This record gives sequence, C-alpha cells and structure tokens, in this order.
Amino acid sequence: MSLYKNYCLPYNIKEALEALTNATGPTRIIAGGTDLLLDLKQGRHPPVHTLVDVTQIHELSVMEIREGRIFIGASVPLNRIVSNDLVRTHLAALVEACGLIGGPQVRNTATLGGNVAHALPAADGTIAMLALGADAEIASMDGNRLVALEDLFLGPGKSALDPKKDLLVGFFMPLQFAGQSSAFKRVMRPQGVALPILNMAAWLERQDGIIRKIRLSLGPAGPTPFRARKTESVLMGKEVNDTSISAAQQVLLDEAKFRTSPARATADYRKKLAIILLEDVLKAVWKRADRIKS
Ligand SMILES: Cc1cc2nc3c(=O)[nH]c(=O)nc-3n(C[C@H](O)[C@H](O)[C@H](O)COP(=O)(O)OP(=O)(O)OC[C@H]3O[C@@H](n4cnc5c(N)ncnc54)[C@H](O)[C@@H]3O)c2cc1C
Repeated sequence: MSLYKNYCLPYNIKEALEALTNATGPTRIIAGGTDLLLDLKQGRHPPVHTLVDVTQIHELSVMEIREGRIFIGASVPLNRIVSNDLVRTHLAALVEACGLIGGPQVRNTATLGGNVAHALPAADGTIAMLALGADAEIASMDGNRLVALEDLFLGPGKSALDPKKDLLVGFFMPLQFAGQSSAFKRVMRPQGVALPILNMAAWLERQDGIIRKIRLSLGPAGPTPFRARKTESVLMGKEVNDTSISAAQQVLLDEAKFRTSPARATADYRKKLAIILLEDVLKAVWKRADRIKS
C-alpha cells in the first residue's frame, strides 16, 4: 500500500509553499523521512495525500555565518553538521548531539528541521539547540519570521508550526566568544529505541572564575523540550564546584517533571540520571570554557 498519492520536489521556498497551500488533501513536508515514514508505515501518523520534499532547496542546505550568527539550514543532514568546521568551532553541544543520533545511515539523511518539527521532548538536536540559544526561521506565504526555538513547542509531538503553511528554513545560533562553551551528554539504551533515556545540554560564559551567563536544557523533563531556568539562576555568579553543583541538583529535581515511559525508564531512574548528567555536563562545559581564549 502506498503511503502517499503525490510527491512534490520543489527547488525553492516559493515552490514549496505553493505546493503546501495548493495540495488538495492532507499534506506534510518531508526531509530525511526517518521520523515521518516510520510513523506513516506504523500507523502513528494519519494518512497523507501529498508529501513535499524540501531536501533540494538550496537555502535549506546552507551552513554559514549570517548576520553575525551561525545559520544552519533545516534540511542539512546531521552528518554534515557533525563534520562542519564552523559548527565544530562554535557549537560543541550540537556536534555532540548530532553525532549520537541514530547510526550512520540515519545521520546521512535525518535533519535538524525534522528533529525540531517532530517536537519530541527529548529530541537530541533540539535539546542541544535550546541550550545554544537558537532562533528558528520560518517561511510562509505571509513572509519569513524568527521565533525563539523554545516557543515552537506546544506538547509531546505538537509544534506551533502549521503543516499547511509553515516551512522551517533554518536555525540561527550565536557565535562562541572567549570564555564561552557548550556540552551535550545523554544516557541511551544500547540498541532498539530511538530516543535517549535522558539527555542534557549546557552553554555557559565563564568570566573571572564565575558563571556570567548560562543556559541549561534537558529531556524528557516535561511535555516539551525543557529549559531549566530555575537551575540556571542558582548557578549564576557561582564557580562550578561541589557546592554549586549540589545546590543546582536539588533545584533541578524540583523543577523538572520526570515521567515513567515503558520502553525507556522509570521517573525515579531518570531523577538519578539527572543528578549525574548535571554534574558531568557542568564540569565538561566549565573546563572547556576556560580553554576558549578568543
Ligand atoms: C533508527 C533511528 C534512530 C533514531 N535515533 C534518534 C536519536 O538518537 N535521537 C533523536 O533525537 N532522534 C532519533 N531518531 C529520530 C529522527 O532520526 C530525528 O528526529 C531526525 O532528526 C528527523 O529528521 P528527518 O529529516 O528524518 O525528519 P522527517 O521524518 O522528514 O520529518 C519529521 C517531521 O518534521 C517535519 N519537517 C521536516 N522538515 C521540515 C521543515 N523544513 N519545515 C517544517 N516541517 C518539517 C515533517 O513534516 C515531519 O512532521 C531516530 C530515528 C531512527 C529511525
């Protein structure tokens, strides 16, 4: 049985938006297809009439410095992100996250746009970009708009994107300057299940021996990819040491909402992992930030 009736292959954003708007039945954008095709095949996604493939659109395949930030197109395959020098220099957490998603075959086709639009609370690329302060560029027939990544998520598997109108163009993330760095870590079952038991990312700025700025994200720790703002505030102005880590661990356990999921882990196990991941990620990023001189 065919999973769709029409397959459109637009070569620019305008053609893609027209294909979305003009399609007569249920329509979906497809990039790598590593989430969508499985969901369609296994009946987790309602049938679609038209698929709009966005992988041939040049604008969505670019990685460059744009307007003083790094721009990564929504359709860049993850393996290209992992090996890109610009990304490796400025966005360590994203390199670490993308390098762990699936295996080589998945990373050859899967994209950041798909990772974000699928809107799962523990999507690895999404969690890394949340800590990296990403904004998403979205195109529609009304024009392009920039939205803070965090504002795109409404619930598990639910994003604020309108599938009939909105196309993710790409993501903007700040360049890394002296004293700044990021890190991503996760705990994962060795095989079989696509998402981690728990993941965590941190970005921070270290100046004069204390944390001047910090962003911390983790998943699954609530219905949407979670930014741990209360934990961030406890760490602001502190050195990363046993005392500050211990204080941060208490606040994180209080603000994050861990749940039990049958295929992965219990809430209690996730709490234990959160304590360990927080210490690991903070120590890694603190040490790295000290090495970044310019
Ligand atoms: C074996 C396996 C292992 C995996 N392991 C992991 C893992 O470890 N960690 C993890 O986070 N994920 C994992 N995944 C999930 C998946 O690979 C990622 O979420 C991937 O990044 C999805 O990208 P895609 O291009 O394949 O998306 P697609 O499947 O093409 O699309 C997914 C959703 O995004 C929408 N979409 C895609 N591009 C756009 C766009 N430009 N604008 C608007 N909407 C868009 C689609 O309409 C669809 O709703 C795994 C999947 C498999 C099959």
